[in-house]
Amino acid sequence: MLVTLKEILKIAEEKKIAVGAFNTPNLASLHAILGAAEELSQPVIIMHAQVHEELGLCTMDEIAPIMLRAAEKAKVPVCVHLDHGTDLDYVKRGIELGFTGIMYDGSALDPAENTKNTIAAVEEARKTGASVEAEIGSMGSRTSGVQDDESIYTDPAMAEKFVKETGIDALACAFGTVHGFYLKEPKLDFERLSKIKSLVDLPLVMHGGSGVSHADYREVIRRGVRKINYYTYMSRAGAAAVSGKEYKQFQDVMWDAEKGMKADVKTAIGVFSGLLCD
Ligand SMILES: [Zn+2]
Repeated sequence: MLVTLKEILKIAEEKKIAVGAFNTPNLASLHAILGAAEELSQPVIIMHAQVHEELGLCTMDEIAPIMLRAAEKAKVPVCVHLDHGTDLDYVKRGIELGFTGIMYDGSALDPAENTKNTIAAVEEARKTGASVEAEIGSMGSRTSGVQDDESIYTDPAMAEKFVKETGIDALACAFGTVHGFYLKEPKLDFERLSKIKSLVDLPLVMHGGSGVSHADYREVIRRGVRKINYYTYMSRAGAAAVSGKEYKQFQDVMWDAEKGMKADVKTAIGVFSGLLCD
């Protein structure tokens, strides 16, 4: 069942859980994620990231119709989301293709320009009823060595202003997680998260979900995170499932990778939804 980002985050808010948001740059990951969500009867967000297009994995025009059809046929609520759209034209194309959620990411810009572009993205999304996630502060990447740089964390007062001025539906916050593999164990700024939540009253989004401990997932959910972006470890699980094996048929590689990713996604959704307690 295809739903908007706003609708799926409302379900998360009612249940006080976080919805897992996973990238689907190929059919194996799409099947793994939807299979995991259906087996656990949990809502899920599937995402196409602009950066995956730049890496040559697949184009939005190729994958969007496949994602949308799979979401419509799924037995659980599914949001089809554009992840880290950094170009307004690209975001507009995603909305035209039928994405029910988009992230406009202007976090690398100065706050005034980020605000201006986010307002434009919201205006565009309202034409189809798509919901908008945006980011203020910057998550950065784990390999750039900025993991502990608090100067790029989301400033609560700036977040409050940004949300008021833009009318977005969900806010991505930087409070100690970064993208990719962690160079060292992440230390999350929970107080900052709670402060932001008290000022913006919107569902919060945590990016860089791979490699965060189960206890930390539960703590951020308790403090208002309703969407957790998770990809790196799912992708790693797919690679681990096929490494060291000899194959004669490529479909068997895909099949094993899908099973590996599905098991990893089931654990992630299990923790995010409170089904898995350890
Ligand atoms: Zn992200």
